[in-house]
Amino acid sequence: MISFADYLQLLPKAELHCHFVSVMRPARLIDLAAKNDVSLKSTDVDDLLDYDNLIDFLDVFNAGHEVLVSPDDFATVAYEGVLDAVESGNLKYREYYVNPFNFVSRGISYQTLIDSISQGLEQAESDFGVGFRIIPAINRSHSAQSAVELVELIAAHPHEKVVGIGMDDLTPEGFEEPLRFREAYELAGERGLKRTAHAGETLAASAQNVIDAIETLGCDRVDHGYRIVDDQALLQRALDSGVPFACTPLSTRVLSGWAFDDQHRIARMVRAGLPVSLSTDDAVFFRTDIGLEYTAALPAMGFTAAEASQIALAGIEAAWCSPEEKARLLADAAAGIRALDALLDIPTLHIPTLHIPTKESTT
Ligand SMILES: [Zn+2]
Repeated sequence: MISFADYLQLLPKAELHCHFVSVMRPARLIDLAAKNDVSLKSTDVDDLLDYDNLIDFLDVFNAGHEVLVSPDDFATVAYEGVLDAVESGNLKYREYYVNPFNFVSRGISYQTLIDSISQGLEQAESDFGVGFRIIPAINRSHSAQSAVELVELIAAHPHEKVVGIGMDDLTPEGFEEPLRFREAYELAGERGLKRTAHAGETLAASAQNVIDAIETLGCDRVDHGYRIVDDQALLQRALDSGVPFACTPLSTRVLSGWAFDDQHRIARMVRAGLPVSLSTDDAVFFRTDIGLEYTAALPAMGFTAAEASQIALAGIEAAWCSPEEKARLLADAAAGIRALDALLDIPTLHIPTLHIPTKESTT
């Protein structure tokens, strides 16, 4: 027999909202900083990830990019990130946001970046059976024109694992403003790329931002999207679209302060019938992992084992892999869930005590 917490941790999972640098181990961050001569505020992990303010956090977050220099650095971080997620949450498939601007600006070419990450992820796929895709991310702190140029860059260098575009950061004014990047999203559609956008996450965001992402940007998926439950008519339009949502409970708790209970927006989205899956967003910086997203959030939100398994399957359904790969993932997951169902003891509430850093902005 297994506990409900074990059941949640062992559910086979697909993670769709994961920023690449955030799969880095804290110890690896410290090692790479020493190797590549990047200064950190501390070489003690607890001190390093304990932020006093936003500037403090951004220093560490930026260092997370700067420590990645050689192709081996990228491949090692990619590989270890998969290994850790297999151990912490039975990861079966993951999609990664990679922000090329943060590396191209330091002389690392787009092709080298994608090839190096892919090399590590392919080795991990060979060793652990975890599939992957890569989604270059528009940096919202840069101009709408730079987003268009990113789409052109992706289209000029096709790669079988690069399947769409997404977003990170916020506009220089600290807003989401999905429509600022409308031209880039239109071009991505013309170039045959899938589209997802961070929308409806921040305090200033609205349900309309989510609908803009779906109906105007043509998104195939939405990251976060929590504000959609604030407007019943717009919620219905989201439901009618069938567009899935990739939500991140722990990073959202840090940023919003919303308690994990049955009135949490993620809980309301699931109960409204939206296809919702769970992800870590920025695992290293929020001290989370894909297993913890399930074990910390779902019991506290009042979900049963059957509902949790549907959330896990929703992640696979919403993946941007090939139909054949998806069919295999779904069949394997269904078998895994049946085995777990047979082992499940009486469901118990298990909410780990967390030390969560605070952060005012997001990526
Ligand atoms: Zn994100």
